[in-house]
Amino acid sequence: MTLLDGKKLAEEIKLEIKAEVDQMLASGKRAPHLAAVLVGQNPASKAYVSTKIKFCEDVGYGSTLITEDENVTEERLLSIIDDLNQNDAIDGYIVQLPLPRHIDEERINLAIRPEKDVDGFHPMNFGKMAQGMEAFLPATPYGILEMLRRYQIPTEGKHCVVLGRSNIVGGPMSILMSRKGYPGNCTVTLTHSKTRDIGGELRRADIIIAAIGIPGYVKADMIKEGAVVIDVGINRVQDASKKSGFGLTGDVDFAQIKDKCSFISPVPGGVGPMTVTALMLNTLKAAKKIH
Ligand code: NAP
Repeated sequence: MTLLDGKKLAEEIKLEIKAEVDQMLASGKRAPHLAAVLVGQNPASKAYVSTKIKFCEDVGYGSTLITEDENVTEERLLSIIDDLNQNDAIDGYIVQLPLPRHIDEERINLAIRPEKDVDGFHPMNFGKMAQGMEAFLPATPYGILEMLRRYQIPTEGKHCVVLGRSNIVGGPMSILMSRKGYPGNCTVTLTHSKTRDIGGELRRADIIIAAIGIPGYVKADMIKEGAVVIDVGINRVQDASKKSGFGLTGDVDFAQIKDKCSFISPVPGGVGPMTVTALMLNTLKAAKKIH
């Protein structure tokens, strides 16, 4: 079994991005600039945003963090988005999800200018992606593609089973794996909570991409020998050995299946770091377009 080391890959890509930023600066251009809008005090959201800001610092991007109170109005958020859309010093930005219940996430997403939508969530980018056109790919699926590419995992003609159909992970992942090209050209089965026999579907998979948010859901008897397993899940579970009292685990029972699969991404240290990296690659792309 080979571990798909997202942490190591992210460090490699970080150096590549930094080299590009240095080149941009040397040729008189300004560095890419990412902004993040963070609403409320959700600890996971705060941690994600600070990881993104830290990445910006590491590669030489400019960054702007806009924090708003949990009770922020939708109008206020829309006005922040309008400013970001028009601010030429900002190449791309994200609105960290989830947003408080009183905010209509769909309305916020639609207000983001597609050219600055480095999370790749806007329907314009989603539609272009689905049609195989140039677009900002959603960060997690993009990170997974990059992982497959850099580990040179063959995908053509393979049967890929995606677990979960969310708009940010499973849905776009299923489209990308069935697209023409590499990574892609798979025959894809997209499964969800209404799928009748998930075990049966998974057992036929050469590549499994698990994104359902249930710790340890995929067991050894659900996969075939030699399958490639990408674990997207990030689940908080109680862990008395940790100071915080909890640890992170994926949607796959890593201990059970590690000796049965050919490749597996760990949690943490697999898809997570690749997601942040993909966001930074999108930001670089946004900056290059503007320049
Ligand atoms: P989500 O929006 O909650 O979607 C979950 C999907 O799983 C839904 O399509 C749901 O089906 C399906 N599902 C739920 N229970 C199921 C079951 N028992 N059997 C089969 N399907 C089931 O989740 P998400 O945002 O895609 O995230 C999924 C996981 O990935 C979470 O653990 C999340 O924290 C993690 N994640 C990680 C990263 C990263 O960077 N590593 C990024 C994003 C998300 P229905 O559609 O039928 O409800």
